[in-house]
Amino acid sequence: MARYFIWTIGCQMNKAESQQIAGCLDSAGYQAATSFSDADLVVLNTCVVRQSAENKVLGTLSLLKGLKTKHPDLQILVTGCFVNSDAKELKNRFPHVDLLFKPGDYPELIAWGHKQGIPIEQRLLRYPRNDGWMASLPCAFIPIIQGCDNFCSYCIVPYRRGREVSRPLEEIVCEVEELVRRGIKEVALLGQNVDSYGHDLPGRSDLADLLNELSSIDDLVRIRFLTNHPKDISLKLIEAMASLDKVCEHLELPVQSGDNDILKAMRRGYTVEQYRELVHTIRHKIPQISLSTDIIVGFPGETEEQFERSLSLVQEVRFDVVHIAAYSPRSGTIAWREYQDDIPADMKKERLNKIEELQTAIASEINSQLQGKEVEVLVEGRKKGRWFGRTRSNKLVFFEDAGEWQGQLARIQIAKTSPWSLGGQVKNKY
Ligand code: SF4
Repeated sequence: MARYFIWTIGCQMNKAESQQIAGCLDSAGYQAATSFSDADLVVLNTCVVRQSAENKVLGTLSLLKGLKTKHPDLQILVTGCFVNSDAKELKNRFPHVDLLFKPGDYPELIAWGHKQGIPIEQRLLRYPRNDGWMASLPCAFIPIIQGCDNFCSYCIVPYRRGREVSRPLEEIVCEVEELVRRGIKEVALLGQNVDSYGHDLPGRSDLADLLNELSSIDDLVRIRFLTNHPKDISLKLIEAMASLDKVCEHLELPVQSGDNDILKAMRRGYTVEQYRELVHTIRHKIPQISLSTDIIVGFPGETEEQFERSLSLVQEVRFDVVHIAAYSPRSGTIAWREYQDDIPADMKKERLNKIEELQTAIASEINSQLQGKEVEVLVEGRKKGRWFGRTRSNKLVFFEDAGEWQGQLARIQIAKTSPWSLGGQVKNKY
């Protein structure tokens, strides 16, 4: 039986799309392989949001070139944000690739499969499988909106994933109902900007409406969503989060910089004052909220003072998690066209380290407050002899127990904390 291997890097959206591709290939009778060398068909699901990710893609493409020389029948498919609108140019650069298709363009994958005599079908469900590790996962990622209309000056996503297109609300509800029937307990709704969900649908249902609908599905225990945009998140959504028990107390709310001029150059559409006010409103309505953010250091022209403002904002807001990236110019973006990448690499690294050090101390303090407390954990699997899962606030928890906990909700008493994870003992099942 023919075998496939899917290599995925990048965001949760890529991971969700890889699940869908796996479903398509399963439908054609393919089986999952465990490595490139074990496969007849490989799919690279790529990311180019940062230079380091793009380098990994180029390295893997070069590795596959060698593999294809040894096994000329190997079929290589590439998707994700590496695939730009000039597929011809990419095809010339990488002649060993059999198909390049844009993220989410399953019709293109299916049409190619049919030409090759591979009867691929598109499946609505991201998790149609009853076999292997995926079947035992209690959480599913559900894309609800594709693309982005924002054009933040540093970001390549709108050029690669196109404009925003929302999935019909009824289709998402139907998919989640089916997943729950198959044992899924938690869904994470995905979009580059989930706050835009529904603006292009007839009737203009929004994310709050979708959360309301999903909340009424019996046996669905938790609902998450990411990523929000500070300029678009609505009071209606915050109030829906506050009132719906199944919606977890966790938000991904990227601020990117603590300086207004840098935010303007990034074309983010809000000021630091507006962001601060938003955090205040969210914390007032949802006191248990856990907040994650993204910060870019070394954006073109960022002075020491401007960087210090990002540092002060991290100190002031006290996020649970901060994802920090050093700016890297992405060809074709507004920042790449208009600004010079003038902050030296060692200075970017130094700024990144400073925020990381501060955030480590803050996360350590925040997590230490959970010492001795009981938390609800949805158990995702086992690693090095310990069970692991996440709290509603998205904190990673490890515990040891001889029982079978896969996919179960456990009540854990926290005995150990660190900036990155928690450890504890089982009190009982929910
Ligand atoms: S909101 Fe901005 S950073 Fe996020 S995907 Fe859209 S353009 Fe990129």
